[in-house]
Amino acid sequence: MHAIIATWKMSYPSVCDAQHLLQEGAAAGDAVVEAITQIEDDPTLNSVGYGGLPDRDGHVMLDAAYMDGQTLRCGAIMSAEGIRNPILAARKLCGRESNCVLAGRGAELFAIEEGLPMRDMCTHASMQHWREAIRMEHRKLSAYRDHDTVCVLALDEDGGLVAGTSTSGLFMKAPGRVGDSPLIGSGYYADARYGAAAATGVGEEIMRGCLSYEIVSLMKRGASAQQACEEAMNDFVSRKLELGEDAGSMSVIALAPDGTFGAATTLDVFPFTVGNESGVHLCAVKNGVVTEVTEEEVAKLP
Ligand code: ASP
Repeated sequence: MHAIIATWKMSYPSVCDAQHLLQEGAAAGDAVVEAITQIEDDPTLNSVGYGGLPDRDGHVMLDAAYMDGQTLRCGAIMSAEGIRNPILAARKLCGRESNCVLAGRGAELFAIEEGLPMRDMCTHASMQHWREAIRMEHRKLSAYRDHDTVCVLALDEDGGLVAGTSTSGLFMKAPGRVGDSPLIGSGYYADARYGAAAATGVGEEIMRGCLSYEIVSLMKRGASAQQACEEAMNDFVSRKLELGEDAGSMSVIALAPDGTFGAATTLDVFPFTVGNESGVHLCAVKNGVVTEVTEEEVAKLP
């Protein structure tokens, strides 16, 4: 039994490769890293890695995390600049007894010491995007154009369950701002006994609900991956509404140890990719219902 699930349409091509690895017996961690590094290296995917969304000062500052559900160990970097593949740094940190979460300069020095490739993560396009935003003051942030995270959950034939995330965070964020993606329990969580979960959307909202831990905790208490995603999201959204807030912009995915998956969102449409023995499928949560996306619908998806 193996399975993989990842956020957004952008994950489809790399999940095809990662699924192939799992099929050949690769470890869940290798599949997660394969799926995420491809996205980090692609300058046309502007919310992750190379060509990511700059902060207010025009720097592409990256967050990433990796968690091994069999050992409950995790590693993360946050607000780090110039690391070509943030997920590789997070994976290398996972397993350390101390200093497994590094921010800023510390994360950058770690990557250099470990011999990880470094590069200027800004592209001509990302700088142009930033210059335009500087000209247009008070621009409202919106999902898709202004932030996204690639979150990948993979299950391997040996029961290994791994969660990984990588993002440049919110476009025009304040220097030093950190979202949910590198925060354990908020942006990701994995316990191989019960399941794994990850979140994408506005980090300031997601972290208040510790959504990923909450989903895994519901799975521990017997919920299916789909039930857990819906219940965690509905509870948190109800609380936000009680507090006089709107539902916000949050989407979650989950994967159970039996390979079943779940997803939920506050958006009208949230696309994600699923790979398992039956192949790789582009799916979406639309009006609260999970469906497979047809060829014709793909182009219209965010
Ligand atoms: N959660 C990310 C952050 O707040 C952004 C996203 O996933 O859209 O940094």
